Amino acid sequence: SGGFTAESVRHDFPILHRTVNGHPLVWLDNAATTQKPRQVIEALTAYYGAANSNIHRGAHTMAREATEAYEAGRAAVAGLLGAPGPETVVFVRGTTEAINLVAQSWGRASLGPGDDILVPVLEHHSDIVPWQMVAKETRARLVPVPLTPDGAIDQDAYADLLSARTRLVAISHASNVLGTVPPVKEMTALAHRYGARVLVDGAQAVAHFPVDVRDLDADFYAFSGHKLFAPTGIGALYAKPELLAAMAPWQGGGNMIESVEFGETTFAAVPHRMEAGTGHISGVVGLLAAVNWLTSLDRGAVAAYEDGLMAYAHEALAAVPGLELIGSAPDRIAVLTFTLAGHDPATVADWLDADGIAIRAGHHCAQPALTHYGLESAARASLALYNTSEEVDQLVASLLRLQQSA
Ligand code: PMP
Repeated sequence: SGGFTAESVRHDFPILHRTVNGHPLVWLDNAATTQKPRQVIEALTAYYGAANSNIHRGAHTMAREATEAYEAGRAAVAGLLGAPGPETVVFVRGTTEAINLVAQSWGRASLGPGDDILVPVLEHHSDIVPWQMVAKETRARLVPVPLTPDGAIDQDAYADLLSARTRLVAISHASNVLGTVPPVKEMTALAHRYGARVLVDGAQAVAHFPVDVRDLDADFYAFSGHKLFAPTGIGALYAKPELLAAMAPWQGGGNMIESVEFGETTFAAVPHRMEAGTGHISGVVGLLAAVNWLTSLDRGAVAAYEDGLMAYAHEALAAVPGLELIGSAPDRIAVLTFTLAGHDPATVADWLDADGIAIRAGHHCAQPALTHYGLESAARASLALYNTSEEVDQLVASLLRLQQSA
């Protein structure tokens, strides 16, 4: 397996060695956020212990060092995404802010009455609500793309909904609630035939498989650092160079200008024009460490390991009486959303928590996707590269005890 084992990477994660409620932690809430390797934690300590500075080029040594670290982070993100260059990467707080940036900057300028924005029913609220808001403002139409019963995007319906009116298609590269990995490259090519732009929400994808924005031909690609073993509060937006160059700044302030007079301001070049104010410098330092850590692994071996663990977990969970798994599209990341007969999802999560097992219960910020299955709430176990089949066994054993206790 190219030298990759879950056991070897577990050594990098101090938190995985704590106990919760007297039991060794079993962290199965990776779709909400991933844990951080010591390489990331140490990079943050080193930055604040020895390198903290704001990033003004040329002011002093530490400012230059911080600037270099910040721009090294940008180059690392460009590398991670297969972007043509660092100038196509804008730092943001996370996926949510990236999508709002595109909606407010590109969307306000490009959408109008009679235009369609196509959004699959399985999207996270952060890939629905910003479009809804800008659609209201511009009198464009937000059009849901339906799902098939197994939780895939209905490709026939998608092809039918596309038209000369379509300005934008916004799709997740992997669903946080059903795990579905849609054929983004094919969907993008189809959208482009109608002249539409495509935004890809990569929040759930980047930690699980390599991404290549040029191969996808995505116009925009967004992700959050905290789902990629990096700190919270930092993420990135990739935009095609010609799109980014034409986009108006969405926030004004320091760091994004060339010169300011009361009559007129000229803006800095992209990507800086899109980054008003002091950025999350330590966040970028942590993100750089996380990207370096992740890309030092054999990613093909990691993806194969996760697929194997997913298949194992799927089979093991399906054997629990009364347990129903939701979503069974053939291409999926390791997200297992389920209901358990006789117990509401919050009770299931509480029960597992008492055994030190962290899962999420609720609507997963994807209410339309759950509504598609007639549900308001579900339990979700989401796996990462450091999870093991023993942990899956513990999840299953705990669920079986819950069933027996009823
Ligand atoms: N999209 C998807 C598919 C997600 O899973 C998430 C996080 N659950 C988001 C967007 C939003 O990410 P963030 O809260 O980090 O901005």
